[in-house]
Amino acid sequence: MKKAIVCGAGIGGMVSAIYLSQKGYEVEIFEKNSKPGGKMSELRRDGYRFDTGPSLITLPEILDNFFKDIGRDMKDYFELIELESSAKYFWNDGTVFNSFINESKLNEELDEVFGEKEKDNFFRFLKYGRLFYDLSEDNFLKNEFKIRNYITREGLKNFTKFISGRSMNDVSNKFFKNAKLKQLLDRFATYNGSSPFLAPQFFSIIPYVEYEFGAWFVKGGIYEIANALEKVCSEMNIGINYGHKLIDFETANKKITGLIFEGEKRSSTMKKILTF
Ligand SMILES: Cc1cc2nc3c(=O)[nH]c(=O)nc-3n(C[C@H](O)[C@H](O)[C@H](O)COP(=O)(O)OP(=O)(O)OC[C@H]3O[C@@H](n4cnc5c(N)ncnc54)[C@H](O)[C@@H]3O)c2cc1C
Repeated sequence: MKKAIVCGAGIGGMVSAIYLSQKGYEVEIFEKNSKPGGKMSELRRDGYRFDTGPSLITLPEILDNFFKDIGRDMKDYFELIELESSAKYFWNDGTVFNSFINESKLNEELDEVFGEKEKDNFFRFLKYGRLFYDLSEDNFLKNEFKIRNYITREGLKNFTKFISGRSMNDVSNKFFKNAKLKQLLDRFATYNGSSPFLAPQFFSIIPYVEYEFGAWFVKGGIYEIANALEKVCSEMNIGINYGHKLIDFETANKKITGLIFEGEKRSSTMKKILTF
């Protein structure tokens, strides 16, 4: 049986390991932390639970399709609850904005809190984000990324938007006058732990996806997804070795022959934790 080693038990690592196992590989994961999930993590204190990274699910069909691909039903592992409003924003001066997903409710809320002009700008902004989504849906989000798929009339027409140095903050400055609305839209950069001043404008795709397709909460907290993937790994006999930080590997004849983990001294008498 062919062997595959996956570095990291984040969502990406566990999903890759599961797909590899399904293809007939004997898979082992090495994770530096003591638990799965990576950025998807939580903190429990005094009876409360806090997400320390992601908290919201968009495009749930991607998760659903993954479970179908591996012959399972997502509902057997966790439950998704569709949200009426993805977030509630509060400012020091008492301004409150309820980020409704429903378009007419959102329309009313934008009008009431930010006024008609900024409301129109908001929908123009979402249309701008849609451009990136339309160019990426088939070529990147739902299929393997291949640069040649972007060599289309639309792709070439919008090529400069992908490579321009414009940040998310540059885009919110372009569309809005209201400082609070700029803050609100810049916040979407934090969805992947980025800064709106550095994240490229391509990430304007995130608010578009949330307002266009909706937002979901995982019952019991998003960490249920990490637990679910760990459970699937165990069902498929994929070993997860926690507390193993991979720092290097050895090769011979173009094959990996050994893995080197932190804590092991590199010398001629070096003891490798794992050799093949
Ligand atoms: C603050 C924040 C909020 C977010 N909000 C959302 C949200 O609401 N919705 C959403 O969908 N996404 C959100 N994201 C994005 C989402 O969290 C990430 O896209 C996703 O978790 C990345 O998963 P990953 O497996 O690719 O990487 P990671 O989660 O980073 O996993 C990598 C794993 O590899 C391990 N590792 C790294 N190096 C080594 C090594 N040398 N040896 C062994 N193990 C190693 C790490 O410990 C980690 O467990 C958010 C991200 C952040 C930071």
